Amino acid sequence: MKRIVLTGYRGTGKTEIGKQLAQQNGVPFLDTDTLIEQETGRSIPDIFHEDGEERFRAIEREVIASLPPADVVIGTGGGAVVDPKNMEHLRKDSTLVLLTADIDTIERRILHSSRPPLTNLPMRKEIAEMMDRRRQHYHAASDFYLDTSDTTPADAAGKIASMLKTGVATAAARAEGLTFFRSGRLSAPVLQRLEEILKNPPADPQMRILGVAGYPCAHSRGPRLFNALFREFGLNNYYTFFEDPELDQIMTVARSLDVKGLSVTIPFKQDVIPFLDEVDEHAAQQIGAVNTVVFACGSAIGYNTDWLGIRKPLVGMKGAKAVLLGAGGGASAAAYALVDLDMDVTILNRTPAKAKELAQRAGCRWAAWDAFDSIRPDLVVNTTPLGMEPDTRSPLTEEQLYPDLTVYDLVYTPPITPLIERARAKGCTTITGTGMFVEQAREQFYLWFGIDLPEETLRKYIA
Ligand code: NAP
Repeated sequence: MKRIVLTGYRGTGKTEIGKQLAQQNGVPFLDTDTLIEQETGRSIPDIFHEDGEERFRAIEREVIASLPPADVVIGTGGGAVVDPKNMEHLRKDSTLVLLTADIDTIERRILHSSRPPLTNLPMRKEIAEMMDRRRQHYHAASDFYLDTSDTTPADAAGKIASMLKTGVATAAARAEGLTFFRSGRLSAPVLQRLEEILKNPPADPQMRILGVAGYPCAHSRGPRLFNALFREFGLNNYYTFFEDPELDQIMTVARSLDVKGLSVTIPFKQDVIPFLDEVDEHAAQQIGAVNTVVFACGSAIGYNTDWLGIRKPLVGMKGAKAVLLGAGGGASAAAYALVDLDMDVTILNRTPAKAKELAQRAGCRWAAWDAFDSIRPDLVVNTTPLGMEPDTRSPLTEEQLYPDLTVYDLVYTPPITPLIERARAKGCTTITGTGMFVEQAREQFYLWFGIDLPEETLRKYIA
């Protein structure tokens, strides 16, 4: 039996439901809080009181790292999933089931608990506050979820067992999903894999699909990168191409197949917003473009990780004079990143009205495409698809490039674009799209799985 890990806030029923589920499967139930108490010979309130929360979290990390790999049901402490290292251990060859409950139910269930409070707030406020703070982490710690507010532990265990046995997508949804993939331009091996995954009954009902949504998106390196990461981290997922000119068709299939996440690419980064239940306020709402969708607890939530990937290699160029070529989704994220680094940014775009609109939104300048030479920037960031295979054009001529210019091309197929090739020949500093792609993918991986990719893993994939 694959390891089942129950996650969720205190009072959502992990211990009682975990015991029932373990009994039904004839395997042991291990509760990480109980293991901590056994290992230290002290109660959790005592550890908190005498050594503080930090020490408790360190012991919790050790206990989680030493959990058995299979044939067991595990219940985790409510805050364990916040730590990316814990997630790396908990996720390995496991299925994570997030238990949720409404605040009234949680308050009632933990009213007489001796567990120490985590804040100075009254209990009800603390529950709301902590659940809100940990929400993104709980989403990342959920392959399946169950609201336990109105169920007995035995009923909840039964529901979980049946979910794990059949998966969430119906037979009809899987058949429709296959029709969708068959109508696309997938290679024979990719289609064959999807046929195995989506057949009825499913060979592995706990397998969750993810993919890149775009048109075209067959060039995307996402499937190669993420499927390699799934193998490396023991994740039961498959990442594929959702390539279709109709975004509503993609979103309908994604929801009915109960996919875990989508990367959104050209031309859907802005169009996808109305299809979402929520958009992350810090990035996507201000950037106005979403490149990552997390499906969790029945909702589709949009984020933007592009701006973090763009920003990373530019932190040493604070305050520079920059030109942004393009005014689409990638440009919105780039504008947000450059403005965040206090740069003086001018946007140039084929359709000037869009440059003006983005400039007003992002708080920077805009100008006609041919204004590049008069600006003479320190940095130019190409966010147009010019130079993306099979296109061999460069957005700038050789004469427009000079040695003290830094050229950053977001296009990453091919890895060395015509623009980067020209810029290197002219002695410019160059930054390719591959580094940005891997950095933004690292953030996506964190949002979907709660795991922070180690530097050595990143270096392997950027190389
Ligand atoms: P988008 O939202 O469709 O925007 C494309 C922009 O490029 C628009 O401003 C468009 O101008 C302009 N454009 C398109 N064709 C053009 C042409 N022939 N000449 C001049 N301008 C043209 O696309 P996006 O999502 O921003 O993606 C843009 C590129 O960045 C793609 O190649 C994508 O692969 C790459 N990208 C890479 C990464 C990475 O991880 N490295 C991340 C994001 C994006 P109009 O307004 O006139 O249509």
